[in-house]
Amino acid sequence: MKYVVIDRGDDLSRQLTERFHTLAAAQGFSLDERQPDIVISIGGDGTLLQAFHRYNHQLDRVSFIGVHTGHLGFYADWQAHELDALAAKMASDEPQYVRYPLVEVVSNTTDGSERYLALNEFTLKGVEGTLVASIHINDELFEMFRGDGIVVSTPSGSTAYNKSLGGAVIHPSIESLQIAEIASINNRVYRTLGSSVVLPKHHHCDIISAKESQRLALVVDHISIERNDIRSLRCTVSDKKICFARYRPFPFWRRVRDAFLTEP
Ligand code: NAP
Ligand code: MN
Repeated sequence: MKYVVIDRGDDLSRQLTERFHTLAAAQGFSLDERQPDIVISIGGDGTLLQAFHRYNHQLDRVSFIGVHTGHLGFYADWQAHELDALAAKMASDEPQYVRYPLVEVVSNTTDGSERYLALNEFTLKGVEGTLVASIHINDELFEMFRGDGIVVSTPSGSTAYNKSLGGAVIHPSIESLQIAEIASINNRVYRTLGSSVVLPKHHHCDIISAKESQRLALVVDHISIERNDIRSLRCTVSDKKICFARYRPFPFWRRVRDAFLTEP
C-alpha cells in the first residue's frame, strides 16, 4: 500500500504524522507523495479540503481517510488516539469505498476558460460592491441576482457554508448541487427566489456577470481567486467523485446529529 499524510501543521497533527510513519513502516506500507493509493489527512475538515486539492488530478485512483485532532469532523472519522487501530485495520481489512459527488465549475473569461472542482462548495462574490449576475438554469433565465454572493455546494459541503445560509442538508448519496444566496437585494428589478435550489445531475446552471468587468472573487473550498475578466460560470455535478476508504461505518446523519444537535 502506498500512502501519504497531509497534516494541519500544529504540534499534535505533526506528532501523529510521525507516529503514522512508524506504524506504516512496521506494516510494510510505503510512503509515496507522487502516486499514493491512500491519502491520510490529519487535522480538521479544512485539512481534508487541502488534501483533496493536492490530489484532485488523481481522483480515479486515490482514496482518502481523515483523522481529526480537534472537534468531530465531517470528513475525518478517526480520532487521534485511534491511530494504531487505523493502521492495523489498513493492514488487515478490505475497506468499503464510499464516493461523494463534487461540483464542477467552468469559468469563461475574456481569454479562455478554466475548470475547478469543489469538495465543499464554490462561492462567487463581488469584490468592489455587490455581485450583479443573471442565473440561468438549463439555458433559461431563472433570476436576476444582486447581492453579496452565491454559494454552490456539494451534498457533503451542504453542512458547511451552505448551512449557515439556511440551505438544506443533503445526503451525499443524492447526486446534486445546491445554489444558496448570500444577502440578495430584492426589489422590482432584482428578484430572486430566496430559498436555495437543488439541481440534479445533468442539469446545469450558468451565472452570467451582468456588470461590465466587475471584479469577482471565486472561492473554491478554501482557495480564493480574484478576477475581473469572468464573463460567466457554468456549474454542474461533476462526473468525478471523491472516494473515501472506510474501515468502519461513519453514517452521515449520525455526523449531522453529533455536530449540530448532541455531543457524541
Ligand atoms: P475555516 O474557516 O477553518 O472553516 C470553517 C469551519 O467549517 C471549520 O469549523 C471547518 O471545520 C468547517 N467545515 C469545513 N468543511 C465542512 C463540512 N463539509 N461540513 C461542516 N463543517 C465544515 O476554513 P477551512 O477549514 O479552510 O474550511 C473552508 C470552508 O469554510 C469552506 O469550504 C466553507 O464551507 C466554510 N466557510 C463557512 C462560512 C460560514 O459558515 N459563514 C464562511 C466561509 C467559509 P474544521 O475546523 O474541522 O476545519
Ligand atoms: Mn479549518
